[in-house]
Amino acid sequence: MKWCVGFLLLIVSVSGMAQSQAEKDKIRELELMRQMDHARRVTMKIDSAVRLSDEGHYQEADAQFRLILKSIRSVPTDLTYYFGKNSFFLGKYRQSIDWLNKYIQLKGTQGQYSEQAIEWLEKSEQELLKLKAQETKRAYEVLSGDYYIDCGATGKVVCPSCKGSGVIVKKNYFGDVYKSCPACEKRGYLTCDEYNKLLKGKLISD
Ligand SMILES: [Zn+2]
Repeated sequence: MKWCVGFLLLIVSVSGMAQSQAEKDKIRELELMRQMDHARRVTMKIDSAVRLSDEGHYQEADAQFRLILKSIRSVPTDLTYYFGKNSFFLGKYRQSIDWLNKYIQLKGTQGQYSEQAIEWLEKSEQELLKLKAQETKRAYEVLSGDYYIDCGATGKVVCPSCKGSGVIVKKNYFGDVYKSCPACEKRGYLTCDEYNKLLKGKLISD
């Protein structure tokens, strides 16, 4: 009797293990199918974004690439090339350089797009250099707002906001509305300090 019960228990547990193994296989299979389906949909989205880019719709392509990047855990290598190239046309040169470099790091010179990637990378780097040169030039420009302007012996300046009238005219649906000038408070002139503040945008004006 004892032996019999033991045997029965053995059968039950073996069949139980067999069933759970089958279930695990089934779950794994489903998961694999789900992943393949996801990958297929991502590929389709990438293809359509590439088409947009090729047709010159760079902004739309960019938006679509961003959505794809958000929806995936690992980025397909070719996407790094497509996104990097599209970024060039949007003038996003740092972004372009970043992604094209990724492609070149991953594929070396043997990738399907290696040659083009290197070409677009060079173009992006040249454009970025031009931008940087412009920024440096702009940094050296001297602007009057950085200095205190001497207003002369009177120490007064005709208020530039109201041109000396003390009132500001605003148009609305009912016609002209007259408002006292907030910069000079109706005086029509500014003291030199006020004038310098106005130049720096620090004098309260409406
Ligand atoms: Zn005024």
